[in-house]
Amino acid sequence: MQISEEQIKLVNNQINALVSAGSFYGKKLKEAGISEIKSAGDFENLPFSEKLDLREAYPLGLMTAPENKIVRIHSSSGTTGLPVIIPYTAKDVDDWGEMFKRCYEVAGITNLDRIQITPGYGLWTAGIGFQNGAEKLGAMVIPMGPGNTEKQLQMMQDMKTTVICATSSYALLLAEEIEKRGIKNNIRLKKGVIGSERWGEKMRNRISESLGIELYDIYGLTEIYGPGIGINCEHNTGMHYWDDYIYIEIIDPVTLKPVSDGEWGEIVITTLVKEGAPLIRYRTHDLSRIIPGECHCGRKYPRLDTIKGRTDDMIKIKGVNVFPSQIEEILQTFPEVSSEYQIRISHLDRKDTMRIYVETNGHVDFLNLADRIATTVKSKIGFTPLVKVVEIGLLPRSEKKTKRVIDERFE
Ligand code: ZN
Repeated sequence: MQISEEQIKLVNNQINALVSAGSFYGKKLKEAGISEIKSAGDFENLPFSEKLDLREAYPLGLMTAPENKIVRIHSSSGTTGLPVIIPYTAKDVDDWGEMFKRCYEVAGITNLDRIQITPGYGLWTAGIGFQNGAEKLGAMVIPMGPGNTEKQLQMMQDMKTTVICATSSYALLLAEEIEKRGIKNNIRLKKGVIGSERWGEKMRNRISESLGIELYDIYGLTEIYGPGIGINCEHNTGMHYWDDYIYIEIIDPVTLKPVSDGEWGEIVITTLVKEGAPLIRYRTHDLSRIIPGECHCGRKYPRLDTIKGRTDDMIKIKGVNVFPSQIEEILQTFPEVSSEYQIRISHLDRKDTMRIYVETNGHVDFLNLADRIATTVKSKIGFTPLVKVVEIGLLPRSEKKTKRVIDERFE
């Protein structure tokens, strides 16, 4: 998705604000002698920003608007080391709410809906993001926060909640509890808005069938406002994102060059109108692709595919970027294979080769199954792996996380 003239103008405003504030990234731009870009080519030469760098700006080095305009901070959960602190102006909070409102609207949610919010409230951007958008929409918010399933289900029945906002794992837990207690007849849920953790089609179907609701995936990250920068529409063909607030590129995480629309790679986001802490070319390490063409819904907002994992999981083979979840997805379409598989990458005859080991029972024609899997991988991903089919029980099992991908090239 090439950057447009209008977006270039907005990026220049962001560069200007960063440089004149002398904030963390502004100093970097200044050192690099960048004060303006003129073309898409210039844009691609702008330095990236990374979470690790942003940590160096702790606590308030990212602040780009004057302090009297900052109304709130949020912080990304740092599992190790310092967190990243993102300051927001009133306009940032408002813009974020507008984007989130748009998400609800795309999901067909209106001001007559009753929205129960189960993500957490606090320094992180989850709960409060869902809330801002819902209030802007004019819906009735039930701000539960996480946990206390007993109370969640009570309120869900008494308030006749129509929309549940949750992580996929919590949505599944609630669905199972509702089944277990036999209270489905008291539940009025129609839709679920689910945070953007990676989740499989099987889990998705389980939640949606068990509760009888439509599910919508929402995307976002604290560094870039929070959840609400994109959502899938009723056609469920990727997530529309708001290109009047953010510009998204997909890059090859190895060469760091942008890839063409339709190709998989890392999501890199540039804010276009942010005041508190604008970010230029922020590397999310999330893997996705731009879905080319227009959506059947007719909305002009571009689309990102479902997040397929993190760049750290990626394998480059025969010039094609592959990640294990893609292989896993393909294997899931073969009911005759078990849930266990192993991927081995090796360098044979000066060529990178992928071998996929799968298990099945003795009634299946092993060679024919291997052929069909290899052909499907070729047609869906673009290279032919060697597929080895073995008897059920032969692949290693582990009580901890099973290691499914072994890269022998670096051993
Ligand atoms: Zn659409």
